[in-house]
Amino acid sequence: MRLHASIVFGAAICLATLLLLYQLVSLPPDNNIAIPNQSYNALENRLKRLEQDISANHDTVQEIHGLLKKIGGTGNNSPVLHPRMKPVDAILAPQASDDAGPVFNTSVARLLPDDCNFSQAPASSVDILMENVYKSLPFDNPDGGAWKQGWEVTYESTQWSPERLLRIFVVPHSHNDPGWIKTFERYYQDQTSHILDNMARKLPEDPRRKFIWAEISFFSMWWHRQTPSVQDTVRGLLSRGQLEIVSGGWVMPDESGSHYWAIIDQLVTGHEWLREHLNVRPNNGWAIDPFGLSPTMAYILKRSGFDNMLIQRSHYALKKHLAASTNLEFRWRQAWDPDSSTDILCHMMPFYSYDVPHTCGPDPKVCCQFDFKRLPGSRVTCPWRVAPQPITQHNVQDRSALLLDQYRKKSQLYRTNVLLVPLGDDFRYDTAEEWDNQFLNYQLLFDHMNARSDNHVQAQFGTLADYFQALREESRTSQQQQGNAVAAGEEDEEALFPSLAGDFFTYADKDDNYWSGYFTSRPYYKARSRLLAHKIRAAEILFNLAVGSSGATDPAIPHNIAEQLHLELTEAHKALGLFQHHDGITGTAKDHVVLDYANKLLDGIHHSEHVTQFAAHSLIAPKSDQQSAEMVFFEVSEVHEGASVVSVPRVLHLGEPGRGAVILYNSHPHTYRGLATVRIDSPYIKVVNGSGRQVKCQVDPVFDGLQQGELFDVRFPVELKPLSLSRFVITRKEQPDLKFVTYATVIVKNEELPTLPTVFSVQSYSTDMPLVMQCGGSAAVSIGDNGLLESVTSDGVTYPLLLQFVSYRARETRETSGAYLFLPKGEAEVLVNEAPPTKVVSGPLHAILTTKLPLLTHTLSIANSPGLDSEGLTVRNLVNVRRERNFELAMRLVSDIDSQDTFYTDLNGFQMVRRIRESKLTLQGNYYPVASQAFIQDSTKRLTLLTGQPHGGSSLASGQIEVMQDRRLMQDDFRGVEQGVTDNVVTPNVFRILLERRLPGLDSSSGGARVMFPSLLAERSLHELLFPTVMLHHTYKASGLLQSWSVGSGTEVPCDVQLVSLRSIRGGVGGGAAAGAAAALTLRRGGIDCSFPPPRVDCATNGGKVQLNDILGGAFNEEVRQSTLSHLYAGVNITKSFTLTLQPMELYTFLLSPSPRSPIQGKR
Ligand SMILES: [Zn+2]
Repeated sequence: MRLHASIVFGAAICLATLLLLYQLVSLPPDNNIAIPNQSYNALENRLKRLEQDISANHDTVQEIHGLLKKIGGTGNNSPVLHPRMKPVDAILAPQASDDAGPVFNTSVARLLPDDCNFSQAPASSVDILMENVYKSLPFDNPDGGAWKQGWEVTYESTQWSPERLLRIFVVPHSHNDPGWIKTFERYYQDQTSHILDNMARKLPEDPRRKFIWAEISFFSMWWHRQTPSVQDTVRGLLSRGQLEIVSGGWVMPDESGSHYWAIIDQLVTGHEWLREHLNVRPNNGWAIDPFGLSPTMAYILKRSGFDNMLIQRSHYALKKHLAASTNLEFRWRQAWDPDSSTDILCHMMPFYSYDVPHTCGPDPKVCCQFDFKRLPGSRVTCPWRVAPQPITQHNVQDRSALLLDQYRKKSQLYRTNVLLVPLGDDFRYDTAEEWDNQFLNYQLLFDHMNARSDNHVQAQFGTLADYFQALREESRTSQQQQGNAVAAGEEDEEALFPSLAGDFFTYADKDDNYWSGYFTSRPYYKARSRLLAHKIRAAEILFNLAVGSSGATDPAIPHNIAEQLHLELTEAHKALGLFQHHDGITGTAKDHVVLDYANKLLDGIHHSEHVTQFAAHSLIAPKSDQQSAEMVFFEVSEVHEGASVVSVPRVLHLGEPGRGAVILYNSHPHTYRGLATVRIDSPYIKVVNGSGRQVKCQVDPVFDGLQQGELFDVRFPVELKPLSLSRFVITRKEQPDLKFVTYATVIVKNEELPTLPTVFSVQSYSTDMPLVMQCGGSAAVSIGDNGLLESVTSDGVTYPLLLQFVSYRARETRETSGAYLFLPKGEAEVLVNEAPPTKVVSGPLHAILTTKLPLLTHTLSIANSPGLDSEGLTVRNLVNVRRERNFELAMRLVSDIDSQDTFYTDLNGFQMVRRIRESKLTLQGNYYPVASQAFIQDSTKRLTLLTGQPHGGSSLASGQIEVMQDRRLMQDDFRGVEQGVTDNVVTPNVFRILLERRLPGLDSSSGGARVMFPSLLAERSLHELLFPTVMLHHTYKASGLLQSWSVGSGTEVPCDVQLVSLRSIRGGVGGGAAAGAAAALTLRRGGIDCSFPPPRVDCATNGGKVQLNDILGGAFNEEVRQSTLSHLYAGVNITKSFTLTLQPMELYTFLLSPSPRSPIQGKR
């Protein structure tokens, strides 16, 4: 029985092929084993010889592997290419026992040749390409004197005249972190509420006073606690331009690990609040503290309607370089932009910090004397030991001359006579005294400077808007003076400034202090952020489809309940938004603040799941009796036991009445094909799909602590329509049904045989030969003695691909690794694992390797399915470094790809950037954010690592990619958090590894293309990784449930187009008051590299042509309005049947209103 079960589909089902064969021929005869072919006898002899030869090499294994393929029914069938995928049901028809198991067809996506041009064409030329700047700079860090990282700045006073005044805008600001040393709420209580209280009192005292504010999370909290008269005062300040909201996002987000989805989400949350309560539209970005800066942010601001932005924390050597060429103000352009449509005017601050000592001019010792919070007697002092003096009649002349000198020097670093001087710091202006000290003293200085006509200066308080307006005026004037006569109103206000493409990672603030540690710090919570984004996206799409597909008189969800669900989604958005803060997802807050974020994230997950289950029920039970929002009809198939605990699959208890139905929800506008996995409590089952047909499945035992032999995973192939719900029913049976169910084979090495029901074949592996794991037509993976991947064999070719775990030790000096900084002692050491406990569970559809290592449990799985999950390898590392000290763990892939010093990492899941490994940058300077993928390539192949969560990573040698898994550091690294990172928790890190062969003659890297794009397979696989199919377990006994539900016409959306989000809006341009009264649909067309043929992507590109009808079907009104990304500005009116042409790499947002009729359709 034991082995019989494993060969029901023939011996070549998904299993450890070579190993099983070995077992077949070596087990004693009384085990009643069927030898399928006489050829085995010859192999047996060879295997015996191999057994004696413990150094059996890969070539021999491969040769045997090749022979096995030729033996009928035992080999890995090469993928059979068919133009179209067969329906899954046809594939799942019962098959003869000598069949090689399910072989799923692979289809190649039909790529329109024109759609490949984008990735092949050179991008538009730019004046400054950061990649070239990196190549040219020595990064030698000479001492610059007073401006330590720059040079001694000088100027000629004659450059100013009565006609050419130096126009100085001093911009008072207060940087408020929504969580860092204290929690968000604690900061509000202790500091922020006082800052805003005083703002409302002290700004109106003098109309010349100005102030800017960025974080709407704080501002909205304060606003709702104010009296109508205070609110009126603030409205007046805003309308008079004394107060400006800059950026206006929920937070000032991190730009390294945050996904573009979440960056946009927090921006919409902030902007929606501003629209609804203040009717304010921010126009200027303000990012003074994020630790490195991404062009993705520039793109998002540009497409949200912003004209200008400001950034601060870039590498000191880059600041110096750009300052030396007066290029600190530039038109930031997307590297992939074929023209200049993405340009946004960007001001980079020149010095070390955004505090007062580093913003008035190059000499911090002087500038600190003009921070009047540090007046003698204050708790805050100047580290340069010269204190500020209160400005009086007696000293104003000297003091203003000293300050003006700094202003003039700073102005030499920019092209115009308009100068920006931020005046503020963290949590500043919290007392009336501080307001008075700063504003009164500065006004005296300004008045004096301005009164002396030979100064040729006009100094004043200003907002960021004031500054950029003056800057643009000056640019226009300068163009006219240079004789660039242009017609009135057609001046190019930005023509004075160079264009720049590239990013500002990895940030260093001094010496070799690269901030590449925070790319990985607290990885558990980074992953949690991705999970919440997925949960919100899925919930909101379903909720809005439910509300949008029914009319006001016939609501799918009763209005009062919809209102409550909408509030739950709002809470989830706020939790996700808060965590995108640059001390949230970065992992740079204190332990108790991290836990506070974690609890908020978990609440957001629960809220989102609640909305999903309710919306699903409303769609699949149209005549439902939904009486209150608290009703639970379905449970999401994951259990979240705590804010810092790894989520586990929910068990479907088949013995309980009413149980057994699962709903699969596809939230994408493409057909989903792949394996579904359900955790069950009985191995004897049948699975029936929505058409009432029994489907073939694989049952695996679960090895999870004490539950061994009691829990099982059933896996079955599914095909889910775009934007649909599909019902499957799993029923317990008394006997195993071997016609439809295959029980996995379990092979253990270096551990005891488990006790399992007899349907499972259990074997011990005791040779030194590599384990080979394979599934049907999938690639075969070879596992070494250390329990880790050694090579991948695909279509008869073996590619070496070593997976290693390596460790870094922190430097044993005062300056060493901490929450922010990565300062390793040296190169990493490869961790050696001798004879680790290893287990392979395999069957016709799926195989998984589990290796237990001292610091992690590593799993590697492959699938034989009709979907993308059968391409490439899935890795999950359950990491636990809690016993280590000053230790960082990384996973490294080592291949034979001739990538030399070049690798590619993504920014925000939005775009790829070429990185060149440079020894002048140090090891930690070569670490970059890997928000969602990295790849290396040569003329024939590409290795892509997709990541389910953000990491720091690099390629430290040709052919390698590595990503940090977790870091445990015992000390502070002096960047303010005043603690190490020692609160590590067990962390699940998930990856997909894709090895793709390039089409001959299509080397995108040699064609002059400056920008690289993911392959279509990588693009689609990443979307499945980050936004997977949602599974719901039915808990509620109800009749009349539909078998399935779907929206849309059934037309496939082009395969390079993604549904980013479908978000409820209230305050947007098309918004109304009621929940779900309007929704915003955001689509994105990816940029793809066509030189890699995309197997199993059964779709086509068509030049980005989309009708919203294809996605939405009858849901929502026919009238649609385009809008900016955060819904601040409306664009053209179109209809749902209008054919849109989406450009590669661009995001598009459309405002929808609900349909007057109810088009809910389903299949009973
Ligand atoms: Zn900050």
